[in-house]
Formats: sequence, C-alpha cells, structure tokens
Amino acid sequence: MTVVVLLGAPGAGKGTQAEILTKRLGVPHVSTGDLFRAAVRDGSPIGLEARRYMERGHLVPDDITIRMLLARLHADDADSGAILDGFPRNAAQAAALDSALAERGSRVDRAPYIEVPRDELVLRLSGRWICAAAGHVYNEHTNPPMQPGRCDVDGSELIQRVDDEADAIRTRLAVQLDALAEVVEHYRRTGALRTVKGVGTIDAVAEDLLAALTDDPVGAA
Ligand code: AMP
Repeated sequence: MTVVVLLGAPGAGKGTQAEILTKRLGVPHVSTGDLFRAAVRDGSPIGLEARRYMERGHLVPDDITIRMLLARLHADDADSGAILDGFPRNAAQAAALDSALAERGSRVDRAPYIEVPRDELVLRLSGRWICAAAGHVYNEHTNPPMQPGRCDVDGSELIQRVDDEADAIRTRLAVQLDALAEVVEHYRRTGALRTVKGVGTIDAVAEDLLAALTDDPVGAA
C-alpha cells in the first residue's frame, strides 16, 4: 500500500497535482475538502455540520473529519493506497492517521510539501473559480477559462467558493498556516517529508513531486 500525503497551504496547487499523481501512481486521490463539499451538496448530516465551519474558513472538528477520512480509506479502491490531499491538517489528525495505518501494517511513505510564498497564495486564492457541475478549477490570473464564466470541460457556470472570498481567505490562511507547520514538523520527524518548490509550471512541479516520491527510502532527507 502506497500512502502519500500531499502537503501545502490552501492555494499551493495540491488538488491539481493530486490529479496528476493519481493517474501516474494508480491510487485514488482522496481530498477531505472534496468529500466535505460532496456531503454539503448531498445535504447529509456530515455536510450540514461541516458547512458551518467551511463557510467561515475554519477547520471542521477533528472527530468528524477523521471518521470520514478513515471510512474513505476502507473503500476497496484504496486497498493499494491513496494520495491524501487536505488531510492531515493538524498534529492530532496526523497521529490518528499513523495509528490507523499501523493497524494495517502500513504507514505514510512520503509527505511532499508544496512550498509557495504567502503573497502568491493570496493572489491565487482570490482569483480562483470552480465549475458548478464538477469542481474543475480555474484562475482568473494564471489559468483563465477559454470563455469567461464557463467551464472548458463541461460548459457549466463558474462560481467562486464562499471560502475564497477575501475575509475568509485571510482567516483561512492564518488558521491553516500554523496548523500546517505542525504537520510539516510531524513528517520531518518520521522522515517522510520532502519539500518541493510550488512556483514553477504545473508540469515542472509535477515532475519534482514524482522525483520526490521515488527517491531514497524514508529517512533520507
Ligand atoms: P480544502 O478544499 O482542502 O481547502 O478544504 C475546504 C474546507 O473543508 C476547509 O477550509 C475546512 O473547512 C474543511 N476541511 C478540509 N479538510 C479538512 C481537514 N483535514 N480538517 C478539518 N477541516 C477540513
């Protein structure tokens, strides 16, 4: 089982890179943000609870998040592993993941950290638009759609995430950068951490990530 934890601040490009890695590694892309957004769309009990936190840019409580993530990892398609995107977000979630994987005789093999300067993160988040139908991501500064306001893939309307509006972005970054530092430290200790610069082209960052996933065994750097 290959478990990769993709680390980075909101806007670092985790979702985009995870889509590339999932095809190259043949394991599913598991995003807790996507799982929560699907739950909100479905109006499930988890969705109703999570929405109150997500709209303000706050983290959803650990007990709900951990339960949802572990249930997802027990699905058949995750038998051979997963690329985790957006989880763990703090030290408690990292510890819960380690214990759950240890019970299956597994562990986090690699935790590549996509590093992007804070000013660049704000620019990216404030320009981000997603399609209403399937969540395809665009950026008005760096990756605009061919036709303004319409998804290139499915033609649906582009909307801005409530938590990508200016006030929520500032809260989200402040809350999440502190927690991210804890998680980075956690994987530095286990030896799984690899730091990759996240400011090049999408393809260049993807190549650096793939190299980081196949370098020397845990503990090398
Ligand atoms: P994301 O798409 O990863 O930016 O996640 C969107 C929102 O979902 C976050 O701002 C949180 O409110 C919630 N969320 C996603 N993953 C987690 C997590 N691991 N722990 C707590 N909340 C999360």
